[in-house]
Amino acid sequence: MQIAVPKEIKNHEYRVALTPTGVRELAQRGHTVSVQASAGEGAGFSDSDYEAAGAQTESDVGALWKNAELILKVKEPQVEEVARLTSQHTLFTYLHLAAEEALTRGLMESGATCIAYETITDANGGLPLLAPMSTVAGRMAVQAGAHSLEKAQGGAGVLLPGVPGVAPATVTVIGGGVVGENAARMALGLGADVTILDTSLARLDVLDRRYQGRIKTVYSTADALDNAVRESDMIVGAVLIPGAAAPKLITRAMLSDMKPGSVLVDVAIDQGGCFETSKPTTHAEPTYIVDGIVHYCVANMPGGVSRTSTLGLTNATLPFVLALANKGWQQALSDDPHFLPGLNVHAGQVTYQAVADAFGLAC
Ligand code: NAD
Repeated sequence: MQIAVPKEIKNHEYRVALTPTGVRELAQRGHTVSVQASAGEGAGFSDSDYEAAGAQTESDVGALWKNAELILKVKEPQVEEVARLTSQHTLFTYLHLAAEEALTRGLMESGATCIAYETITDANGGLPLLAPMSTVAGRMAVQAGAHSLEKAQGGAGVLLPGVPGVAPATVTVIGGGVVGENAARMALGLGADVTILDTSLARLDVLDRRYQGRIKTVYSTADALDNAVRESDMIVGAVLIPGAAAPKLITRAMLSDMKPGSVLVDVAIDQGGCFETSKPTTHAEPTYIVDGIVHYCVANMPGGVSRTSTLGLTNATLPFVLALANKGWQQALSDDPHFLPGLNVHAGQVTYQAVADAFGLAC
């Protein structure tokens, strides 16, 4: 199969959809892989790395798309990329269509077969191609929060582990899913005093058994949130209600109960944020201060660690890429009931119910 890997063109996107390791796996199975020149640069892979693995590098982006059957990307196609898509293409990437009507209609008009990373499922009811990026964001949240606690960043000047004779900082994580557990693990590893709040007792049970009391678990109520606000040096927002905007769990009025220079890290900002005072920020200017509280609200946290994120993402996507290349999309999807929900658009029709419902389209 003819496979193309374009360079990502979304603002500040440095990840790439296939590593040289992935190229080698495809090339040794007889597939032809074309990688756009400098596509891997932002993740630390040179054109010669790709060529050594068996890819061709292509500087003519028009030719790259024109000759491809399967296109591997990271972010949803931008307007000029949608214009290049035709019915000959199978596109495999993050799409997040339910909030993007113009993109959905553009993909329908292209006639392409569009398979989204984020709607592929696994046997445990998880989302295996979202989980690696949630893991990155959770781990990064505490790294970013710890930096924000420094005095020069507007923070209280608190070191997470403390020192002998000085108590460690208190970190509360709201939402104990993939992001929350990874944030809590990082905070624990750095020596902080860590509590996770969640509305799922079943999830708190798993975390309690897993960490044997080293991470405290608290059922999330208004009282629990009031206590967290008063006691914490850092609060990480990591809630998710699938398909809905994040609930505003900490209001502006509650900020006055926080210690001056405390830090809010709102990882759920990509779903609107779970603090009333959150607004999306960028890696270039990640924080701002409201009522003396430092806010870190970067909407694409994994982009800040593009090499680790690329490696983590491509480890998860590679088995699906190999299935698409070896079997063709129809066979690959019909052989795997967890791959099938990845199909979002085909031959001018939306094929994923939640996206169709979002825009009143037939499915
Ligand atoms: P997840 O589904 O694994 O976990 C969410 C958890 O939140 C669940 O355990 C759920 O029970 C809990 N929850 C729901 N409502 C709650 C409430 N009111 N109080 C306490 N807990 C509550 O989701 P995840 O993969 O961990 O993702 C968490 C958030 O992080 C999502 O909004 C996701 O979009 C976001 N995210 C952001 C970035 C970024 O770069 N900013 C990257 C990855 C993920």
